[in-house]
Amino acid sequence: MEREITIALQFKLAIGDVTLNEIVFRLKELRDDLMLRILEEILRGYDDLICKRLSQTRIYPSKARRGLGRHFKRDEAEARLCRGRKVRKRGYRRNPRQLSTVFGKLKLPIRVVECCKCGAFYSPLLSALKVGRYARRESNFEHEVIEAVIDTNYRRLINGRSIDISVGGVHNLVVGSDVDHVYQEPVSLEDVSAILADETGVKQYKGRKGELRAVIGVTTAGRVEPLGTFTNTEWSDIERTIKERIKQAEPYNIPFVYDGEPGLDDFLADVAESQRCTWHGPRGLYHALWEDGLKKKDSQPAIDKIKHLIGIELPEGDFELLKEEDKEPVKIQYDASKAQIRELIETFRQKGYLHGASYLENLSDRLFTHIEMWLKSGVIAPKTISLLERVFREVGRRIKRIAWGWCDKAVTNLSKMILLKQYSRSKWEEYWKHKLGIEDHFDIKIASVQLSPCKHF
Ligand SMILES: [Zn+2]
Repeated sequence: MEREITIALQFKLAIGDVTLNEIVFRLKELRDDLMLRILEEILRGYDDLICKRLSQTRIYPSKARRGLGRHFKRDEAEARLCRGRKVRKRGYRRNPRQLSTVFGKLKLPIRVVECCKCGAFYSPLLSALKVGRYARRESNFEHEVIEAVIDTNYRRLINGRSIDISVGGVHNLVVGSDVDHVYQEPVSLEDVSAILADETGVKQYKGRKGELRAVIGVTTAGRVEPLGTFTNTEWSDIERTIKERIKQAEPYNIPFVYDGEPGLDDFLADVAESQRCTWHGPRGLYHALWEDGLKKKDSQPAIDKIKHLIGIELPEGDFELLKEEDKEPVKIQYDASKAQIRELIETFRQKGYLHGASYLENLSDRLFTHIEMWLKSGVIAPKTISLLERVFREVGRRIKRIAWGWCDKAVTNLSKMILLKQYSRSKWEEYWKHKLGIEDHFDIKIASVQLSPCKHF
Protein backbone atom coordinates (compact mmCIF):
# COMPACT_ATOMS: atom_id res chain seq x y z
CA MET A 1 0.00 0.00 0.00
CA GLU A 2 1.46 3.30 -1.07
CA ARG A 3 0.42 6.67 0.26
CA GLU A 4 1.77 10.18 0.43
CA ILE A 5 2.00 12.72 3.22
CA THR A 6 1.94 16.38 2.36
CA ILE A 7 3.66 18.68 4.78
CA ALA A 8 3.27 22.43 4.69
CA LEU A 9 5.85 24.38 6.65
CA GLN A 10 5.52 28.06 7.24
CA PHE A 11 8.47 30.25 7.91
CA LYS A 12 9.22 33.91 8.28
CA LEU A 13 12.60 35.16 7.27
CA ALA A 14 14.10 38.55 8.11
CA ILE A 15 15.73 39.56 4.86
CA GLY A 16 19.23 40.87 5.36
CA ASP A 17 19.41 39.73 8.99
CA VAL A 18 18.94 35.99 9.19
CA THR A 19 21.99 33.75 9.62
CA LEU A 20 22.64 30.14 8.74
CA ASN A 21 23.03 29.31 12.42
CA GLU A 22 19.58 30.56 13.27
CA ILE A 23 17.92 28.65 10.44
CA VAL A 24 19.60 25.40 11.46
CA PHE A 25 18.85 26.03 15.13
CA ARG A 26 15.12 26.43 14.45
CA LEU A 27 15.00 23.43 12.12
CA LYS A 28 16.61 21.33 14.80
CA GLU A 29 13.96 22.45 17.26
CA LEU A 30 11.31 21.41 14.80
CA ARG A 31 12.76 17.99 14.04
CA ASP A 32 11.23 15.83 16.77
CA ASP A 33 7.84 17.56 16.64
CA LEU A 34 7.70 17.12 12.91
CA MET A 35 8.49 13.43 13.22
CA LEU A 36 5.81 13.04 15.90
CA ARG A 37 3.22 14.64 13.62
CA ILE A 38 4.23 12.44 10.70
CA LEU A 39 4.07 9.38 12.93
CA GLU A 40 0.64 10.37 14.13
CA GLU A 41 -0.64 10.82 10.58
CA ILE A 42 0.72 7.47 9.45
CA LEU A 43 -0.85 5.72 12.44
CA ARG A 44 -4.23 7.45 12.07
CA GLY A 45 -4.27 6.58 8.39
CA TYR A 46 -3.41 3.00 9.21
CA ASP A 47 -6.14 2.87 11.88
CA ASP A 48 -8.73 4.05 9.33
CA LEU A 49 -7.56 1.54 6.78
CA ILE A 50 -7.68 -1.36 9.22
CA CYS A 51 -11.16 -0.46 10.43
CA LYS A 52 -12.39 -0.10 6.86
CA ARG A 53 -11.12 -3.55 5.95
CA LEU A 54 -12.57 -5.15 9.04
CA SER A 55 -15.99 -3.49 8.74
CA GLN A 56 -16.55 -3.73 4.99
CA THR A 57 -16.18 -7.45 4.55
CA ARG A 58 -18.14 -7.46 1.31
CA ILE A 59 -15.54 -5.29 -0.39
CA TYR A 60 -12.49 -6.79 1.28
CA PRO A 61 -11.92 -10.53 1.05
CA SER A 62 -10.43 -12.36 4.02
CA LYS A 63 -7.02 -12.17 2.33
CA ALA A 64 -7.09 -8.37 2.70
CA ARG A 65 -7.73 -8.80 6.43
CA ARG A 66 -4.75 -11.06 7.03
CA GLY A 67 -2.94 -10.12 10.27
CA LEU A 68 -5.76 -7.79 11.33
CA GLY A 69 -8.46 -8.00 13.99
CA ARG A 70 -6.88 -10.38 16.48
CA HIS A 71 -8.71 -10.06 19.79
CA PHE A 72 -9.80 -12.04 22.81
CA LYS A 73 -13.35 -13.35 23.15
CA ARG A 74 -15.66 -11.27 25.24
CA ASP A 75 -16.62 -12.34 28.73
CA GLU A 76 -14.55 -15.45 28.98
CA ALA A 77 -12.67 -16.23 32.16
CA GLU A 78 -9.73 -17.59 30.17
CA ALA A 79 -8.31 -15.32 27.50
CA ARG A 80 -9.15 -17.08 24.23
CA LEU A 81 -8.72 -15.68 20.77
CA CYS A 82 -11.86 -15.00 18.76
CA ARG A 83 -12.03 -16.06 15.12
CA GLY A 84 -14.42 -13.23 14.22
CA ARG A 85 -12.98 -10.79 11.72
CA LYS A 86 -15.98 -8.59 11.05
CA VAL A 87 -16.54 -5.47 13.15
CA ARG A 88 -18.75 -2.44 13.65
CA LYS A 89 -17.01 0.90 14.19
CA ARG A 90 -17.64 2.37 17.62
CA GLY A 91 -15.86 5.71 17.42
CA TYR A 92 -12.74 6.66 19.36
CA ARG A 93 -11.50 5.85 22.82
CA ARG A 94 -12.29 8.55 25.31
CA ASN A 95 -8.60 9.12 26.07
CA PRO A 96 -5.86 9.08 23.48
CA ARG A 97 -3.19 6.45 23.98
CA GLN A 98 0.08 7.89 25.26
CA LEU A 99 3.29 6.35 24.09
CA SER A 100 6.88 7.40 24.69
CA THR A 101 8.73 7.40 21.43
CA VAL A 102 12.21 8.35 20.48
CA PHE A 103 10.80 11.66 19.18
CA GLY A 104 8.93 12.46 22.37
CA LYS A 105 5.50 11.70 23.76
CA LEU A 106 2.87 10.63 21.25
CA LYS A 107 -0.81 11.18 22.05
CA LEU A 108 -2.71 9.00 19.65
CA PRO A 109 -6.51 8.93 19.29
CA ILE A 110 -7.49 5.31 18.76
CA ARG A 111 -10.56 3.77 17.16
CA VAL A 112 -12.67 1.22 18.98
CA VAL A 113 -14.61 -1.50 17.18
CA GLU A 114 -17.11 -4.14 18.21
CA CYS A 115 -16.70 -7.70 17.04
CA CYS A 116 -19.83 -8.91 15.19
CA LYS A 117 -19.23 -12.45 16.37
CA CYS A 118 -18.48 -12.17 20.10
CA GLY A 119 -19.36 -8.55 20.82
CA ALA A 120 -15.97 -7.67 22.29
CA PHE A 121 -14.80 -4.06 22.07
CA TYR A 122 -11.18 -3.65 21.07
CA SER A 123 -8.71 -1.45 19.21
CA PRO A 124 -7.47 -3.22 16.09
CA LEU A 125 -4.69 -0.68 15.49
CA LEU A 126 -2.82 -1.62 18.66
CA SER A 127 -2.88 -5.33 17.96
CA ALA A 128 -1.88 -4.73 14.34
CA LEU A 129 1.07 -2.63 15.52
CA LYS A 130 1.95 -5.29 18.10
CA VAL A 131 1.64 -2.81 20.93
CA GLY A 132 0.72 -4.62 24.12
CA ARG A 133 -2.22 -3.52 26.23
CA TYR A 134 0.00 -1.94 28.86
CA ALA A 135 2.95 -0.89 26.69
CA ARG A 136 3.83 2.71 27.27
CA ARG A 137 6.73 3.03 24.90
CA GLU A 138 8.13 1.70 21.68
CA SER A 139 11.44 -0.12 21.54
CA ASN A 140 13.42 2.45 19.57
CA PHE A 141 12.92 4.57 22.65
CA GLU A 142 14.30 1.79 24.80
CA HIS A 143 17.20 1.45 22.39
CA GLU A 144 18.03 5.12 22.61
CA VAL A 145 17.78 5.20 26.39
CA ILE A 146 20.07 2.21 26.70
CA GLU A 147 22.60 3.62 24.25
CA ALA A 148 22.58 6.84 26.23
CA VAL A 149 22.98 4.94 29.48
CA ILE A 150 25.99 3.11 28.15
CA ASP A 151 27.55 6.38 27.06
CA THR A 152 26.69 7.76 30.50
CA ASN A 153 24.82 10.71 29.02
CA TYR A 154 21.29 9.57 29.67
CA ARG A 155 20.56 12.48 31.93
CA ARG A 156 21.25 14.76 29.00
CA LEU A 157 18.97 12.65 26.81
CA ILE A 158 16.18 12.82 29.35
CA ASN A 159 16.52 16.51 30.14
CA GLY A 160 17.21 17.59 26.59
CA ARG A 161 14.05 16.06 25.14
CA SER A 162 11.75 16.15 28.11
CA ILE A 163 11.64 12.39 27.81
CA ASP A 164 9.59 10.99 30.57
CA ILE A 165 11.74 8.32 32.18
CA SER A 166 13.20 8.27 35.66
CA VAL A 167 16.46 6.70 36.72
CA GLY A 168 14.30 3.94 38.18
CA GLY A 169 12.69 3.50 34.80
CA VAL A 170 16.11 3.23 33.19
CA HIS A 171 17.00 0.59 35.76
CA ASN A 172 13.86 -1.38 34.87
CA LEU A 173 14.70 -1.21 31.19
CA VAL A 174 18.13 -2.65 31.86
CA VAL A 175 16.85 -5.36 34.22
CA GLY A 176 14.02 -6.28 31.87
CA SER A 177 16.33 -6.59 28.90
CA ASP A 178 16.74 -9.99 27.32
CA VAL A 179 20.37 -9.26 26.50
CA ASP A 180 21.47 -12.10 28.79
CA HIS A 181 19.75 -14.63 26.53
CA VAL A 182 21.46 -13.59 23.32
CA TYR A 183 24.83 -14.56 21.94
CA GLN A 184 25.20 -17.69 23.97
CA GLU A 185 26.20 -19.76 20.96
CA PRO A 186 29.33 -21.86 21.35
CA VAL A 187 32.64 -20.19 20.68
CA SER A 188 35.36 -22.02 18.80
CA LEU A 189 38.76 -21.72 20.42
CA GLU A 190 40.36 -21.96 17.01
CA ASP A 191 39.51 -18.30 16.47
CA VAL A 192 40.62 -17.18 19.92
CA SER A 193 44.19 -16.14 20.68
CA ALA A 194 43.70 -15.49 24.39
CA ILE A 195 41.13 -15.57 27.15
CA LEU A 196 41.20 -12.86 29.79
CA ALA A 197 39.38 -12.45 33.07
CA ASP A 198 39.23 -9.81 35.75
CA GLU A 199 36.98 -8.29 38.37
CA THR A 200 36.11 -4.83 39.50
CA GLY A 201 34.25 -3.60 42.56
CA VAL A 202 30.82 -1.99 42.21
CA LYS A 203 28.70 -0.21 44.73
CA GLN A 204 25.22 -1.66 44.70
CA TYR A 205 21.99 -1.35 46.61
CA LYS A 206 22.39 0.60 49.86
CA GLY A 207 26.10 0.98 49.20
CA ARG A 208 26.72 -2.77 49.48
CA LYS A 209 29.97 -3.62 47.77
CA GLY A 210 29.63 -6.03 44.89
CA GLU A 211 32.02 -7.70 42.52
CA LEU A 212 31.62 -7.53 38.76
CA ARG A 213 33.52 -10.26 36.95
CA ALA A 214 34.01 -10.63 33.24
CA VAL A 215 35.64 -13.12 30.93
CA ILE A 216 36.55 -12.03 27.43
CA GLY A 217 38.25 -13.64 24.51
CA VAL A 218 40.56 -11.95 22.07
CA THR A 219 40.17 -13.36 18.59
CA THR A 220 43.07 -14.07 16.29
CA ALA A 221 41.88 -11.05 14.32
CA GLY A 222 42.37 -8.92 17.43
CA ARG A 223 38.72 -8.38 18.27
CA VAL A 224 37.18 -8.65 21.71
CA GLU A 225 34.69 -11.47 22.08
CA PRO A 226 32.76 -11.10 25.34
CA LEU A 227 32.38 -14.55 26.86
CA GLY A 228 30.40 -13.56 29.90
CA THR A 229 29.85 -10.99 32.64
CA PHE A 230 28.76 -11.91 36.14
CA THR A 231 27.87 -10.08 39.30
CA ASN A 232 28.63 -11.61 42.69
CA THR A 233 29.23 -15.03 41.19
CA GLU A 234 31.89 -17.51 42.30
CA TRP A 235 34.71 -18.07 39.82
CA SER A 236 33.93 -21.80 39.87
CA ASP A 237 30.38 -21.11 38.65
CA ILE A 238 31.71 -18.71 36.06
CA GLU A 239 34.16 -21.34 34.87
CA ARG A 240 31.33 -23.83 34.38
CA THR A 241 29.31 -21.34 32.33
CA ILE A 242 32.29 -20.39 30.18
CA LYS A 243 33.19 -24.02 29.55
CA GLU A 244 29.69 -24.64 28.28
CA ARG A 245 30.25 -21.93 25.71
CA ILE A 246 33.51 -23.35 24.46
CA LYS A 247 33.10 -25.90 21.69
CA GLN A 248 36.15 -28.10 22.00
CA ALA A 249 36.83 -30.54 24.76
CA GLU A 250 40.49 -31.00 23.93
CA PRO A 251 43.04 -28.54 25.30
CA TYR A 252 44.17 -25.65 23.19
CA ASN A 253 47.43 -23.98 23.93
CA ILE A 254 45.99 -20.51 24.30
CA PRO A 255 46.97 -18.27 27.15
CA PHE A 256 44.53 -17.42 29.89
CA VAL A 257 45.54 -14.03 31.26
CA TYR A 258 44.51 -12.79 34.69
CA ASP A 259 45.67 -10.56 37.45
CA GLY A 260 46.44 -13.06 40.17
CA GLU A 261 42.97 -13.26 41.69
CA PRO A 262 43.11 -16.15 44.17
CA GLY A 263 40.14 -17.99 42.64
CA LEU A 264 41.66 -18.04 39.18
CA ASP A 265 44.79 -20.14 39.53
CA ASP A 266 43.25 -23.21 37.87
CA PHE A 267 40.61 -21.40 35.84
CA LEU A 268 40.00 -23.18 32.51
CA ALA A 269 43.13 -25.21 33.23
CA ASP A 270 42.05 -27.99 30.90
CA VAL A 271 41.58 -25.71 27.91
CA ALA A 272 44.06 -22.90 28.38
CA GLU A 273 47.42 -22.06 29.90
CA SER A 274 47.30 -19.65 32.83
CA GLN A 275 49.35 -16.48 32.81
CA ARG A 276 49.17 -13.96 35.58
CA CYS A 277 49.50 -10.53 34.21
CA THR A 278 51.79 -7.86 35.44
CA TRP A 279 50.14 -4.53 34.95
CA HIS A 280 49.61 -4.01 38.62
CA GLY A 281 53.33 -4.60 39.12
CA PRO A 282 54.21 -1.00 39.91
CA ARG A 283 51.38 -0.67 42.40
CA GLY A 284 52.35 -3.91 44.10
CA LEU A 285 55.92 -2.73 44.33
CA TYR A 286 54.81 0.47 46.03
CA HIS A 287 53.02 -1.63 48.63
CA ALA A 288 56.00 -3.95 49.16
CA LEU A 289 58.39 -1.04 49.61
CA TRP A 290 55.95 0.61 51.98
CA GLU A 291 56.18 -2.56 54.06
CA ASP A 292 59.91 -2.04 54.02
CA GLY A 293 59.33 1.38 55.57
CA LEU A 294 59.79 3.55 52.47
CA LYS A 295 57.74 6.69 51.92
CA LYS A 296 56.17 7.33 48.54
CA LYS A 297 58.76 9.89 47.48
CA ASP A 298 61.55 7.40 48.25
CA SER A 299 59.96 4.49 46.40
CA GLN A 300 58.77 6.53 43.42
CA PRO A 301 62.01 6.38 41.36
CA ALA A 302 62.09 2.56 41.59
CA ILE A 303 58.37 2.36 40.69
CA ASP A 304 58.89 4.60 37.68
CA LYS A 305 61.76 2.45 36.58
CA ILE A 306 59.66 -0.72 36.85
CA LYS A 307 56.86 0.87 34.90
CA HIS A 308 59.32 1.59 32.17
CA LEU A 309 60.90 -1.86 32.26
CA ILE A 310 57.60 -3.73 32.28
CA GLY A 311 56.27 -1.72 29.42
CA ILE A 312 58.64 -3.41 27.03
CA GLU A 313 57.91 -1.69 23.78
CA LEU A 314 56.25 -4.02 21.36
CA PRO A 315 55.74 -3.55 17.66
CA GLU A 316 52.72 -1.53 16.60
CA GLY A 317 49.42 -3.26 16.01
CA ASP A 318 47.82 -3.77 19.33
CA PHE A 319 46.66 -7.32 19.46
CA GLU A 320 48.29 -8.93 16.50
CA LEU A 321 50.43 -11.95 16.54
CA LEU A 322 54.08 -11.25 17.03
CA LYS A 323 55.69 -11.40 13.59
CA GLU A 324 59.02 -13.10 13.05
CA GLU A 325 60.81 -9.89 12.02
CA ASP A 326 59.50 -8.11 15.10
CA LYS A 327 60.93 -10.61 17.51
CA GLU A 328 64.55 -9.54 17.39
CA PRO A 329 64.15 -5.96 18.70
CA VAL A 330 61.80 -7.25 21.40
CA LYS A 331 64.37 -9.81 22.44
CA ILE A 332 67.13 -7.20 22.68
CA GLN A 333 64.96 -5.03 24.85
CA TYR A 334 63.83 -7.96 26.89
CA ASP A 335 67.44 -8.93 27.67
CA ALA A 336 68.24 -5.36 28.68
CA SER A 337 65.15 -5.08 30.90
CA LYS A 338 65.87 -8.38 32.53
CA ALA A 339 69.41 -7.27 33.40
CA GLN A 340 68.17 -3.98 34.83
CA ILE A 341 65.48 -5.58 36.97
CA ARG A 342 68.05 -8.07 38.33
CA GLU A 343 70.24 -5.09 39.17
CA LEU A 344 67.37 -3.38 40.96
CA ILE A 345 66.59 -6.53 42.97
CA GLU A 346 70.24 -6.65 44.02
CA THR A 347 70.16 -2.99 45.07
CA PHE A 348 67.01 -3.60 47.14
CA ARG A 349 68.69 -6.51 48.88
CA GLN A 350 71.75 -4.45 49.73
CA LYS A 351 69.59 -1.68 51.17
CA GLY A 352 67.59 -4.18 53.18
CA TYR A 353 64.29 -3.74 51.29
CA LEU A 354 63.43 -7.41 51.58
CA HIS A 355 59.73 -7.13 50.75
CA GLY A 356 60.54 -5.06 47.72
CA ALA A 357 63.23 -7.47 46.56
CA SER A 358 61.06 -10.57 46.86
CA TYR A 359 58.07 -8.85 45.26
CA LEU A 360 60.16 -7.81 42.31
CA GLU A 361 61.68 -11.24 41.97
CA ASN A 362 58.25 -12.80 41.83
CA LEU A 363 57.02 -10.21 39.37
CA SER A 364 60.00 -10.54 37.07
CA ASP A 365 59.66 -14.33 36.99
CA ARG A 366 56.10 -13.96 35.77
CA LEU A 367 56.89 -11.17 33.41
CA PHE A 368 59.85 -12.85 31.83
CA THR A 369 58.16 -16.23 31.53
CA HIS A 370 55.46 -14.54 29.47
CA ILE A 371 57.86 -12.76 27.23
CA GLU A 372 59.89 -15.90 26.71
CA MET A 373 56.75 -17.73 25.77
CA TRP A 374 55.65 -14.97 23.43
CA LEU A 375 59.04 -14.92 21.79
CA LYS A 376 59.07 -18.67 21.40
CA SER A 377 55.53 -19.14 20.13
CA GLY A 378 54.72 -15.71 18.77
CA VAL A 379 51.22 -16.49 19.98
CA ILE A 380 50.26 -13.20 21.46
CA ALA A 381 51.64 -9.76 21.86
CA PRO A 382 51.72 -8.59 25.47
CA LYS A 383 49.59 -5.62 24.54
CA THR A 384 46.69 -7.95 25.05
CA ILE A 385 47.26 -7.20 28.68
CA SER A 386 46.79 -3.54 28.10
CA LEU A 387 43.68 -4.46 26.15
CA LEU A 388 42.35 -6.35 29.15
CA GLU A 389 43.19 -3.43 31.35
CA ARG A 390 41.45 -1.04 28.99
CA VAL A 391 38.32 -3.15 28.70
CA PHE A 392 37.96 -3.40 32.45
CA ARG A 393 38.72 0.22 33.06
CA GLU A 394 36.05 1.11 30.54
CA VAL A 395 33.41 -1.23 31.95
CA GLY A 396 34.31 -0.36 35.54
CA ARG A 397 34.18 3.38 34.95
CA ARG A 398 30.77 3.23 33.31
CA ILE A 399 29.32 0.80 35.82
CA LYS A 400 30.49 3.01 38.66
CA ARG A 401 28.85 6.06 37.17
CA ILE A 402 25.61 4.43 36.13
CA ALA A 403 24.82 1.44 38.26
CA TRP A 404 25.33 2.87 41.71
CA GLY A 405 22.75 1.19 43.89
CA TRP A 406 21.67 -1.34 41.28
CA CYS A 407 20.93 -5.02 41.70
CA ASP A 408 23.01 -7.94 40.41
CA LYS A 409 20.92 -8.51 37.32
CA ALA A 410 21.12 -4.87 36.30
CA VAL A 411 24.89 -4.76 36.71
CA THR A 412 25.30 -8.02 34.79
CA ASN A 413 23.06 -6.93 31.94
CA LEU A 414 24.54 -3.48 31.74
CA SER A 415 28.10 -4.76 31.64
CA LYS A 416 27.15 -7.17 28.88
CA MET A 417 25.59 -4.30 26.95
CA ILE A 418 28.69 -2.17 27.41
CA LEU A 419 30.97 -4.95 26.15
CA LEU A 420 28.72 -5.72 23.19
CA LYS A 421 28.34 -2.11 22.20
CA GLN A 422 31.99 -1.18 22.60
CA TYR A 423 33.61 -4.29 21.23
CA SER A 424 31.09 -6.22 19.12
CA ARG A 425 29.28 -3.41 17.42
CA SER A 426 27.86 -5.55 14.62
CA LYS A 427 26.37 -8.01 17.13
CA TRP A 428 24.93 -5.14 19.11
CA GLU A 429 23.27 -3.69 16.02
CA GLU A 430 22.01 -7.12 15.00
CA TYR A 431 20.53 -7.57 18.47
CA TRP A 432 18.55 -4.36 18.22
CA LYS A 433 17.43 -4.90 14.67
CA HIS A 434 16.10 -8.29 15.68
CA LYS A 435 14.51 -6.91 18.83
CA LEU A 436 12.85 -4.07 16.94
CA GLY A 437 11.60 -6.51 14.31
CA ILE A 438 12.97 -4.55 11.35
CA GLU A 439 11.89 -6.67 8.39
CA ASP A 440 11.23 -4.37 5.44
CA HIS A 441 7.53 -3.91 6.19
CA PHE A 442 7.76 -0.15 6.13
CA ASP A 443 9.68 2.12 3.86
CA ILE A 444 9.51 5.90 3.59
CA LYS A 445 11.38 8.37 1.50
CA ILE A 446 11.20 12.04 0.68
CA ALA A 447 9.30 12.40 -2.60
CA SER A 448 9.83 16.10 -3.11
CA VAL A 449 10.59 19.23 -1.19
CA GLN A 450 9.83 22.52 -2.85
CA LEU A 451 9.13 26.07 -1.92
CA SER A 452 5.62 27.33 -2.65
CA PRO A 453 5.38 30.48 -4.70
CA CYS A 454 5.51 33.60 -2.49
CA LYS A 455 2.06 35.06 -1.85
CA HIS A 456 3.23 38.66 -1.82
CA PHE A 457 4.80 38.83 -5.25
ZN1 LIG B 1 -14.90 -11.57 18.58
